[in-house]
Amino acid sequence: MKYFLLLGVGLLFLSGGARGQEGVGSVEELTVDADLGASREGSRTDAEALLREEEAISPDGLSVAQLRELRDRAQNFTFQTEVNRMMKLIINSLYKNKEIFLRELISNGSDALDKIRLLSLTDRDVLERNPELSIRIKAEPERRLLHIVDSGVGMTRHDLVNNLGTIAKSGTADFLSKMQDAEKSNAQEMNDMIGQFGVGFYSAFLVADKVSVASKHNDDAQHFWESDASSFSVAPDPRGDTLKRGTHITLHMKEEAADYLQPDTIRALVKKYSQFINFPIYLWASRTETVEEPAELEADADDDAQVEDAEDKDKETKKTEKTVWDWELMNDNKPIWTRKPSDVADDEYTSFYRTLTKDSSPPLARAHFVAEGEVTFRALLFVPRVQPADSFNRYGTSTDSIKLYVRRVFITDEFNDLMPNYLAFIQGIVDSDDLPLNVSRETLQQHKLIKIIKKKLVRKALDMLKKIPDDEYPHFWKEYSTNIKLGVMEDPSNRSRLAKLLRFHSSRGDDMTFLADYVARMRPGQAHIYYVAGTSLAEVRRSPFAERLEARGYEVLYLTEAVDEYCLSSLPEYDGKKFQNIAKEIFDLEDSPAQKEQFEAHKKQYEPLTRWLAQKLDAHITRAVVSRRLARSPAALAATAFGWTGNMERLALSNAHQKADDAQRKHHLMQKKLLEINPRHPVVAELLRRVTDDPDGAAALQAAETLYRTAALRSGYMLQEGQAVQFAESVEAMLQAALGLPPGARAEPEPDDEPAPADADADADAEDVPAEDHDEL
Ligand code: ADP
Ligand code: MG
Repeated sequence: MKYFLLLGVGLLFLSGGARGQEGVGSVEELTVDADLGASREGSRTDAEALLREEEAISPDGLSVAQLRELRDRAQNFTFQTEVNRMMKLIINSLYKNKEIFLRELISNGSDALDKIRLLSLTDRDVLERNPELSIRIKAEPERRLLHIVDSGVGMTRHDLVNNLGTIAKSGTADFLSKMQDAEKSNAQEMNDMIGQFGVGFYSAFLVADKVSVASKHNDDAQHFWESDASSFSVAPDPRGDTLKRGTHITLHMKEEAADYLQPDTIRALVKKYSQFINFPIYLWASRTETVEEPAELEADADDDAQVEDAEDKDKETKKTEKTVWDWELMNDNKPIWTRKPSDVADDEYTSFYRTLTKDSSPPLARAHFVAEGEVTFRALLFVPRVQPADSFNRYGTSTDSIKLYVRRVFITDEFNDLMPNYLAFIQGIVDSDDLPLNVSRETLQQHKLIKIIKKKLVRKALDMLKKIPDDEYPHFWKEYSTNIKLGVMEDPSNRSRLAKLLRFHSSRGDDMTFLADYVARMRPGQAHIYYVAGTSLAEVRRSPFAERLEARGYEVLYLTEAVDEYCLSSLPEYDGKKFQNIAKEIFDLEDSPAQKEQFEAHKKQYEPLTRWLAQKLDAHITRAVVSRRLARSPAALAATAFGWTGNMERLALSNAHQKADDAQRKHHLMQKKLLEINPRHPVVAELLRRVTDDPDGAAALQAAETLYRTAALRSGYMLQEGQAVQFAESVEAMLQAALGLPPGARAEPEPDDEPAPADADADADAEDVPAEDHDEL
């Protein structure tokens, strides 16, 4: 019975290829069938008889009449422009990598099998005509033909025209344009890109100068598609329905691609690229078997010999070598995730990962587990070593990369409900026995267990990230830090798990630190985790807000990525320790009694100055206070508790991460800041003296304004509108004074040259005197 099923699909191979075709050259080319069985040493006994019988009655093979019919009824098409571009691209970039054609064709077969299997879950009848689900490959080196046959969903005439004549997927158009940019850069990059996308059906033309496709879909008659890469034709298949269901691709191999017709080459390619295909892949192959046959007794005159022979007459056999042709299974189609993790070798995981993702590097991390409880499922997750460069442009719009299986049956890879956006980089598969098979994908998507699976999956994924070893972690962090930070902002239920993955630079040294390590190093009595944000390490290392903290041995986290400050402001605490943005108003520091006492004294002493500043700088600041955090700088500008720090303001203006509406942004930008002055700084002390002496002196006012503006710059704020010009003018005035020039000195006027040209009629003059020429004078 089993063999019979195999025959069903193999039928097209097993047809009488030799019938009446001699002398009709083009018939030879067009036949996709093959001559085998009869002329070979057979596959033994009953099966062989059956095979011969099938062959004898098979209607396959194109007779002259059928060929004429094919020609008459064929409709010719030109490829869509994009297809031509795609083919050119493939040919130009993959000439060193031709072998991937087989991976692509097998993967298409597997996709088609997945589709029919999925359909069969809700409608058993779809498999009726052909219950087998497999891929079969047969090479005919003599005729330079390679056949790849699947019993998948097949293609209707309409499908053949559309799927094999256009590029249907929207993503491919983007890909094409990107590839054309890459074309100008380097070949390796291009290969990587092409590898990741999967180049698809058209890669067949890497090795074939002609490709024919016979396909049978349940909803249509069998059709025949054929192309030499420049155009294609489609016709009803004159042989009728030989496939029952599925697709038979025949590659007319180029001379230089003849090696791909060798069984060993094919086996190696299947092992390399397709060993994890979840359907059996067979190769029509021969093997040599030694068979023992009863020896025919020779009529021997030698009596003695006869006596000897007679003694072990029963064992009288002859060993002969026999070539046996049969379908040889090339892959282990037991899904890797159904195996025990302890039984799967590292390199098996890596090969599986490669076939899953087409990534040429091994994964950075993996997790293979069975989840039990409310729902049982198996999962295999991977972290790719590199995140595609444009991931964040597509953030939140692309689907996740988890393939969903139910009881080993592939359901979909477009679910988008199994991983949150920030973990969309995780690749893998989930296979559950608890989900219903006989419902539509949409119904399944609504299923209550999906939510539970997602929840567990995220936990496991975060565990996996947590376990990345120390020496690999910097690499992970370089690629995925933004994802984790977005996770902190977007996924409150996993916030504390995600926080464990965060790393920042700090005042402690060059290495980044985990929060746990920061907390372990906190000083006795230190209540808060301190951080300051800016655009670069160089900037935050010199932040005025960190001066006194660092001088006193407190560690300060340096946040230098755009997303950092948003991230930490959405994280209320770590390990019971609250975060303190030191560029903001609320700020406490564990001071000694003596320090507290001095602070109170300073407050009193500087009261005239702080009051005066608040009044003079009323437009910009809420108030001025004696600082507890400055050591070197004379002054700094702090945000109010709910206001924006300089860093945040800059981000909001560049609109990098937050699309605050204009009104809200204006509101924030208009918010007044807090001016902190350093009571130990000579400039501040001098200002106090002058203000006390002469509160209305012009020099004091100018000094205060300049101090405010330098404080703003130092604190990461940008000077708004006219302020930058005023700042420049006041600095230039000081420069002038510092250089000993009189206060009223101005730039010398130029000697008058030609009078300014009159506004000539531009249209009239344009042709006679080109404007450019004139300018160059
Ligand atoms: P992709 O597989 O990424 O969709 P391909 O270029 O490999 O792109 O294939 C294009 C389309 O042609 C497929 O999406 C599918 O609809 C159809 N197709 C190709 N090969 C087969 C096949 N063996 N059986 C059924 N359909 C196929
Ligand atoms: Mg494909």
